Amino acid sequence: MRVLLVGPPGAGKGTQAVRLAEELDVPHLASGNLLREAIAQGTTLGHKAKGYMDKGDLVPDDLVIQLMEARMSLPDCEGFVLDGFPRTGVQAKALDDALERAELPLQVVLLMQVDRDELIRRITGRRTCPQCQRPYHMIYNQPKDNETCDEDGYKLTTRPDDTLEAFAHRLDVYQAEADELVGHYAQGGLVKRVHGIGTVDEVHDRIAEAI
Ligand code: ADP
Ligand code: AMP
Repeated sequence: MRVLLVGPPGAGKGTQAVRLAEELDVPHLASGNLLREAIAQGTTLGHKAKGYMDKGDLVPDDLVIQLMEARMSLPDCEGFVLDGFPRTGVQAKALDDALERAELPLQVVLLMQVDRDELIRRITGRRTCPQCQRPYHMIYNQPKDNETCDEDGYKLTTRPDDTLEAFAHRLDVYQAEADELVGHYAQGGLVKRVHGIGTVDEVHDRIAEAI
Protein backbone atom coordinates (compact mmCIF):
# COMPACT_ATOMS: atom_id res chain seq x y z
CA MET A 1 0.00 0.00 0.00
CA ARG A 2 1.05 3.58 -0.66
CA VAL A 3 -0.73 5.85 1.78
CA LEU A 4 -0.40 9.56 2.60
CA LEU A 5 -1.56 11.05 5.92
CA VAL A 6 -2.47 14.75 5.86
CA GLY A 7 -3.70 16.85 8.78
CA PRO A 8 -2.91 19.72 11.11
CA PRO A 9 -0.08 19.55 13.66
CA GLY A 10 -1.14 17.27 16.51
CA ALA A 11 -3.86 15.49 14.52
CA GLY A 12 -2.31 12.11 15.30
CA LYS A 13 -0.57 11.43 11.98
CA GLY A 14 2.63 10.10 13.55
CA THR A 15 0.75 7.97 16.10
CA GLN A 16 -1.40 6.35 13.42
CA ALA A 17 1.38 6.14 10.83
CA VAL A 18 3.67 4.09 13.09
CA ARG A 19 0.91 1.54 13.68
CA LEU A 20 -0.30 1.46 10.09
CA ALA A 21 3.21 1.01 8.72
CA GLU A 22 3.77 -1.93 11.08
CA GLU A 23 0.50 -3.53 10.01
CA LEU A 24 1.09 -2.97 6.29
CA ASP A 25 4.76 -3.96 6.65
CA VAL A 26 5.98 -0.85 4.84
CA PRO A 27 8.24 2.00 5.98
CA HIS A 28 6.89 5.03 7.82
CA LEU A 29 8.28 8.06 5.99
CA ALA A 30 7.86 11.20 8.09
CA SER A 31 9.53 14.34 6.76
CA GLY A 32 9.57 15.93 10.24
CA ASN A 33 11.34 12.88 11.70
CA LEU A 34 13.90 12.84 8.87
CA LEU A 35 14.54 16.56 9.35
CA ARG A 36 15.03 16.11 13.11
CA GLU A 37 17.42 13.22 12.38
CA ALA A 38 19.38 15.47 10.03
CA ILE A 39 19.61 18.09 12.79
CA ALA A 40 20.72 15.48 15.36
CA GLN A 41 23.39 14.22 12.94
CA GLY A 42 24.62 17.75 12.32
CA THR A 43 24.29 17.60 8.53
CA THR A 44 24.36 20.75 6.38
CA LEU A 45 20.72 20.19 5.49
CA GLY A 46 19.87 19.87 9.19
CA HIS A 47 21.63 23.17 9.97
CA LYS A 48 19.69 24.92 7.22
CA ALA A 49 16.35 23.43 8.38
CA LYS A 50 16.59 24.05 12.13
CA GLY A 51 15.75 27.77 12.23
CA TYR A 52 12.61 27.26 10.16
CA MET A 53 11.46 24.31 12.27
CA ASP A 54 11.94 25.97 15.66
CA LYS A 55 9.74 28.88 14.55
CA GLY A 56 7.11 26.61 13.01
CA ASP A 57 7.82 27.77 9.46
CA LEU A 58 7.97 25.36 6.55
CA VAL A 59 11.45 24.25 5.53
CA PRO A 60 12.07 25.35 1.91
CA ASP A 61 10.66 22.96 -0.69
CA ASP A 62 14.01 22.18 -2.34
CA LEU A 63 15.55 20.92 0.93
CA VAL A 64 12.57 18.77 1.88
CA ILE A 65 12.21 17.34 -1.62
CA GLN A 66 15.92 16.48 -1.70
CA LEU A 67 15.66 14.69 1.66
CA MET A 68 12.49 12.77 0.79
CA GLU A 69 13.65 11.77 -2.71
CA ALA A 70 16.85 10.35 -1.24
CA ARG A 71 14.88 8.27 1.30
CA MET A 72 12.25 7.18 -1.19
CA SER A 73 14.80 6.01 -3.75
CA LEU A 74 15.84 3.18 -1.38
CA PRO A 75 14.57 -0.28 -2.39
CA ASP A 76 12.24 -0.71 0.62
CA CYS A 77 9.92 2.02 -0.68
CA GLU A 78 7.58 0.16 -3.04
CA GLY A 79 4.95 0.69 -0.37
CA PHE A 80 4.97 3.34 2.37
CA VAL A 81 3.03 5.44 4.82
CA LEU A 82 3.92 9.07 4.12
CA ASP A 83 3.43 11.45 7.04
CA GLY A 84 3.84 15.22 6.71
CA PHE A 85 5.18 15.18 3.14
CA PRO A 86 4.07 16.62 0.79
CA ARG A 87 2.86 19.80 2.52
CA THR A 88 2.81 22.21 -0.45
CA GLY A 89 1.65 22.12 -4.07
CA VAL A 90 5.28 22.19 -5.24
CA GLN A 91 6.14 19.19 -3.06
CA ALA A 92 3.03 17.31 -4.27
CA LYS A 93 4.05 17.85 -7.89
CA ALA A 94 7.61 16.65 -7.17
CA LEU A 95 6.23 13.54 -5.46
CA ASP A 96 3.80 12.85 -8.31
CA ASP A 97 6.66 13.04 -10.81
CA ALA A 98 8.91 10.74 -8.77
CA LEU A 99 6.13 8.17 -8.20
CA GLU A 100 5.12 8.28 -11.85
CA ARG A 101 8.70 7.59 -12.93
CA ALA A 102 8.79 4.64 -10.49
CA GLU A 103 5.28 3.48 -11.59
CA LEU A 104 4.21 3.45 -7.93
CA PRO A 105 1.28 5.90 -7.65
CA LEU A 106 -0.30 6.92 -4.35
CA GLN A 107 -3.41 4.88 -3.57
CA VAL A 108 -5.11 6.82 -0.79
CA VAL A 109 -4.80 10.18 0.97
CA LEU A 110 -6.24 10.22 4.50
CA LEU A 111 -7.22 13.68 5.72
CA MET A 112 -7.30 13.61 9.52
CA GLN A 113 -9.69 16.16 10.98
CA VAL A 114 -9.34 17.43 14.57
CA ASP A 115 -10.56 20.75 16.01
CA ARG A 116 -8.21 23.42 17.36
CA ASP A 117 -8.96 22.96 21.08
CA GLU A 118 -8.18 19.26 20.90
CA LEU A 119 -5.03 19.96 18.86
CA ILE A 120 -3.83 22.29 21.62
CA ARG A 121 -4.49 19.63 24.28
CA ARG A 122 -2.56 17.10 22.23
CA ILE A 123 0.41 19.33 21.39
CA THR A 124 0.88 20.69 24.90
CA GLY A 125 0.94 17.16 26.37
CA ARG A 126 3.12 15.60 23.68
CA ARG A 127 6.44 14.00 24.55
CA THR A 128 8.68 12.43 21.93
CA CYS A 129 11.39 9.80 22.00
CA PRO A 130 14.61 11.52 20.89
CA GLN A 131 15.87 8.20 19.51
CA CYS A 132 12.98 6.62 17.53
CA GLN A 133 10.73 9.75 17.51
CA ARG A 134 7.66 7.84 18.67
CA PRO A 135 5.08 10.30 20.05
CA TYR A 136 3.47 9.90 23.49
CA HIS A 137 1.05 12.05 25.48
CA MET A 138 1.30 12.58 29.22
CA ILE A 139 -2.46 12.00 29.66
CA TYR A 140 -3.89 10.36 26.51
CA ASN A 141 -1.13 8.04 25.43
CA GLN A 142 1.23 7.47 28.30
CA PRO A 143 4.45 5.47 28.16
CA LYS A 144 4.38 2.30 30.25
CA ASP A 145 7.30 3.48 32.35
CA ASN A 146 7.26 7.09 33.55
CA GLU A 147 8.75 9.42 30.87
CA THR A 148 10.74 6.78 28.95
CA CYS A 149 10.10 5.29 25.50
CA ASP A 150 8.42 1.85 25.49
CA GLU A 151 10.55 0.84 22.48
CA ASP A 152 14.04 1.78 23.50
CA GLY A 153 13.97 3.21 27.05
CA TYR A 154 15.23 6.69 26.07
CA LYS A 155 14.02 9.56 28.24
CA LEU A 156 11.18 11.36 26.47
CA THR A 157 11.61 15.04 25.55
CA THR A 158 9.40 17.95 24.52
CA ARG A 159 9.92 19.14 20.95
CA PRO A 160 11.19 22.75 20.75
CA ASP A 161 8.30 23.61 18.41
CA ASP A 162 5.62 22.24 20.76
CA THR A 163 5.08 25.63 22.41
CA LEU A 164 1.68 27.31 22.14
CA GLU A 165 3.20 30.10 20.07
CA ALA A 166 4.94 27.82 17.55
CA PHE A 167 1.85 25.59 17.41
CA ALA A 168 -0.41 28.55 16.56
CA HIS A 169 1.94 29.51 13.74
CA ARG A 170 2.21 25.92 12.48
CA LEU A 171 -1.58 25.66 12.38
CA ASP A 172 -1.79 28.91 10.36
CA VAL A 173 0.86 27.59 7.98
CA TYR A 174 -1.04 24.30 7.61
CA GLN A 175 -4.33 26.08 6.91
CA ALA A 176 -2.67 28.29 4.32
CA GLU A 177 -1.43 25.23 2.37
CA ALA A 178 -4.14 22.64 3.04
CA ASP A 179 -6.72 23.66 0.44
CA GLU A 180 -4.26 23.50 -2.43
CA LEU A 181 -2.78 20.23 -1.21
CA VAL A 182 -6.08 18.47 -0.58
CA GLY A 183 -7.53 19.91 -3.81
CA HIS A 184 -4.61 18.44 -5.71
CA TYR A 185 -5.38 14.93 -4.47
CA ALA A 186 -9.16 15.35 -4.58
CA GLN A 187 -8.84 15.80 -8.36
CA GLY A 188 -7.50 12.26 -8.54
CA GLY A 189 -10.28 10.98 -6.26
CA LEU A 190 -7.79 9.85 -3.62
CA VAL A 191 -8.97 11.76 -0.56
CA LYS A 192 -10.76 10.08 2.36
CA ARG A 193 -11.71 12.20 5.37
CA VAL A 194 -11.13 10.61 8.77
CA HIS A 195 -12.67 11.93 11.98
CA GLY A 196 -9.63 12.20 14.24
CA ILE A 197 -11.29 12.53 17.67
CA GLY A 198 -11.58 9.45 19.83
CA THR A 199 -9.12 6.96 21.20
CA VAL A 200 -6.07 5.94 19.21
CA ASP A 201 -7.79 2.57 18.59
CA GLU A 202 -11.01 4.19 17.38
CA VAL A 203 -9.17 6.44 14.94
CA HIS A 204 -7.09 3.49 13.78
CA ASP A 205 -10.25 1.51 13.02
CA ARG A 206 -11.67 4.40 10.97
CA ILE A 207 -8.44 4.57 9.01
CA ALA A 208 -8.45 0.83 8.39
CA GLU A 209 -12.02 1.07 7.13
CA ALA A 210 -11.21 4.02 4.88
CA ILE A 211 -8.30 2.14 3.33
P1 ADP B 1 1.01 14.66 14.41
O1 ADP B 1 2.02 13.65 13.91
O2 ADP B 1 -0.19 14.77 13.53
O3 ADP B 1 1.61 16.00 14.75
P2 ADP B 1 1.00 12.98 16.83
O4 ADP B 1 0.74 11.60 16.31
O5 ADP B 1 2.38 13.30 17.27
O6 ADP B 1 0.45 14.10 15.78
O7 ADP B 1 -0.04 13.22 18.04
C1 ADP B 1 -0.03 14.46 18.74
C2 ADP B 1 -0.22 14.17 20.22
O8 ADP B 1 -1.54 13.67 20.43
C3 ADP B 1 0.74 13.14 20.79
O9 ADP B 1 1.02 13.52 22.11
C4 ADP B 1 -0.08 11.84 20.75
O10 ADP B 1 0.32 10.92 21.77
C5 ADP B 1 -1.49 12.35 21.00
N1 ADP B 1 -2.52 11.59 20.31
C6 ADP B 1 -2.44 10.97 19.11
N2 ADP B 1 -3.63 10.39 18.79
C7 ADP B 1 -4.47 10.68 19.80
C8 ADP B 1 -5.85 10.38 20.08
N3 ADP B 1 -6.59 9.67 19.21
N4 ADP B 1 -6.39 10.85 21.23
C9 ADP B 1 -5.65 11.57 22.09
N5 ADP B 1 -4.36 11.89 21.91
C10 ADP B 1 -3.77 11.45 20.78
P1 AMP C 1 6.19 17.56 11.92
O1 AMP C 1 7.15 16.62 12.59
O2 AMP C 1 5.47 16.94 10.77
O3 AMP C 1 5.27 18.22 12.92
O4 AMP C 1 7.08 18.72 11.28
C1 AMP C 1 7.88 19.54 12.11
C2 AMP C 1 8.45 20.69 11.29
O5 AMP C 1 9.31 20.19 10.26
C3 AMP C 1 7.43 21.56 10.53
O6 AMP C 1 6.86 22.56 11.35
C4 AMP C 1 8.32 22.15 9.44
O7 AMP C 1 9.16 23.16 9.93
C5 AMP C 1 9.21 20.95 9.08
N1 AMP C 1 8.62 20.11 8.03
C6 AMP C 1 8.21 18.82 8.14
N2 AMP C 1 7.75 18.37 6.98
C7 AMP C 1 7.84 19.40 6.10
C8 AMP C 1 7.51 19.56 4.73
N3 AMP C 1 6.95 18.55 4.03
N4 AMP C 1 7.74 20.75 4.16
C9 AMP C 1 8.29 21.76 4.84
N5 AMP C 1 8.63 21.70 6.14
C10 AMP C 1 8.42 20.51 6.77
